[in-house]
Amino acid sequence: MSLYYVIEMLPNQIIQKKEVLNSVLSNYRLLNNSIGFVPTMGALHEGHKALVNKASNENEIVVVSIFVNPTQFNNKEDLEHYPRTLNADIEVLKSIKNVIVYFPIEKEIYPEITSFKSFNLGVLDKIMEGKHRPGHFEGVVHVVHNLFEIVKPNKAYFGQKDYQQLVVIKKMNAHYGFPIEIISCETIREKSGLAMSSRNMRLTEQEKSDAIFIWKTLLFVKENKINYSPSELIDLAKAFFEKGNLILEYLEIVDIEGLELLKDWNSKSICCIAAYCGKVRLIDNLLL
Ligand code: AMP
Repeated sequence: MSLYYVIEMLPNQIIQKKEVLNSVLSNYRLLNNSIGFVPTMGALHEGHKALVNKASNENEIVVVSIFVNPTQFNNKEDLEHYPRTLNADIEVLKSIKNVIVYFPIEKEIYPEITSFKSFNLGVLDKIMEGKHRPGHFEGVVHVVHNLFEIVKPNKAYFGQKDYQQLVVIKKMNAHYGFPIEIISCETIREKSGLAMSSRNMRLTEQEKSDAIFIWKTLLFVKENKINYSPSELIDLAKAFFEKGNLILEYLEIVDIEGLELLKDWNSKSICCIAAYCGKVRLIDNLLL
């Protein structure tokens, strides 16, 4: 089914141009209605749906953007293989009330003339996702900054599944002085514990079952917190993880605010994991 056909079916719900989006949203702004925003890269699943449902309950209108952002991919192959499933995405969103889908082309998001100025994310860009995906957060900050300027929402919804991203977004929201409330939403999981992710679509059944080891390791860390120091537990957890079939990229225990490596259990902490399951890179985390 072509995009044209989808637009024909749902003329008021799919918008490609920011001018059109703004003229629709201006009616809500005139009435002082709250605008919720859920930025996504599409290939929507129950995790995304939970964000949109929450936004729909808390706002009069919700904008869901679907844009596979090239600037946040440090790996060309990952970008090429990223699933694009617009028609299925529309199906997922159809049942949720007051949703507008914003489906821009690249030039809309990245016009030639731009006022965007990047800023230094400090340690956030040097550890975990920042360290292993150079340029990734620069791309995330750029796209969310530009989307915030276009949509101008009252509230924006992000998943804890991408915990480091959430911390980055809060920092960038404060840095640019956007009057937007950042709402964090819990991670939605399969029954097996595997965190839902658009990338799971690329896993074979065997890999899906192998991938559960990420969740098992996170539970292992939580259960053993009382018995060990953070650094001892990291070593034990890495040894535990090696019993599975995945290749570990990092396993860290960090504090939940600044994501600094934890020396003792005095501050609130989170365990974050990135690992390759076959060719697919997966991330997950658990508050300890
Ligand atoms: P993405 O399309 O992967 O860029 O994700 C869009 C938003 O959905 C981000 O804020 C993610 O953190 C969030 N998200 C993705 N997977 C999940 C999940 N399993 N549970 C909750 N939120 C999620």
